Amino acid sequence: MAKVGFIGVGNMGAPMAINLVKAGHDVVAYDLMPELLKPVVEAGATAAASPKQAAEGAEFLVSMLPSGPIVESLYIHDEKLLDALSTETLVIDCSTIAPENAKNLATAAGERGISVVDAPVSGGVGGAVAGTLTFIVGGEQAAFERARPLLENMGKNVFHAGASGAGQMAKICNNMLLAVHMIGTAEALQLGVDNGLDPKVLSEIMLQSSGRNWSLEVYNPYPGVQDGVPASKDYSGGFQVALMNKDLGLALAAAGNSQSTAPMGHLARSLFLQHQRNGWAKKDFSSIQQWFNKES
Ligand code: NAD
Repeated sequence: MAKVGFIGVGNMGAPMAINLVKAGHDVVAYDLMPELLKPVVEAGATAAASPKQAAEGAEFLVSMLPSGPIVESLYIHDEKLLDALSTETLVIDCSTIAPENAKNLATAAGERGISVVDAPVSGGVGGAVAGTLTFIVGGEQAAFERARPLLENMGKNVFHAGASGAGQMAKICNNMLLAVHMIGTAEALQLGVDNGLDPKVLSEIMLQSSGRNWSLEVYNPYPGVQDGVPASKDYSGGFQVALMNKDLGLALAAAGNSQSTAPMGHLARSLFLQHQRNGWAKKDFSSIQQWFNKES
């Protein structure tokens, strides 16, 4: 069992850190908002007063943070955490950030003899709690092999996408598709409801038909159709609209760099930005259902 530092215990990081504790690791966690450490400490982790304290003597340092600028600020520019790390520590950054931010981190770490993998995740808060996340890893083969057993304590699928930044690239392709099929699912459900259908029955029908998809199956956006999902908890918890907009921004920036056409991605970002401006930034992204609801 390993000593693991864990930075960022928000919606995703807390259940991930708790699964590491359950797997028998010695977890030392830090978050800018100390009150968020409570459930992690109750599960058996130790609270750190600073990122450096969380990283001290760690074999693995996992971070789960909101954005690339925050990751760079923590490791390279402001907190300068890389300067405090041992070359024995493997950094596993699970945040969803631009491939460029991931490459910058890997380069700065490499200059100090420290190995890093980018390991963004798919599977949402439900997957983080259940320990069934998919990890999409970028980095050198040896670092990937070293990270794999730890990642398997938090997820059930671990992919090596390629060199540093490749994990992030694959992740943002996935999230662009997620945004598109969530919007399509919400639009179809509202059309059915507006024409007298029961959203539960319509969901069951589409799940056995060609409209079947992840948003419909495990993350139904219509309130009351599925237990336990954000739509049935006033769209609380889950994956914030603001974070989906961040990911769509990353996808469209990548599309610009490669001169790829991404009309559906552009439309999805435009709808999610409007939704955010309407006051839904902190709510789960499946709340896009309410954008289609004439009454909301
Ligand atoms: P969140 O906002 O709930 O958690 C982020 C945490 O980081 C917060 O607790 C915040 O206080 C902390 N933090 C911010 N800056 C910090 C710093 N400098 N030092 C220490 N802690 C700091 O977000 P989340 O939903 O847990 O998402 C985290 C990452 O995972 C994001 O990059 C997101 O895109 C990605 N992601 C989220 C989901 C999801 O369903 N929520 C799914 C896949 C990927």
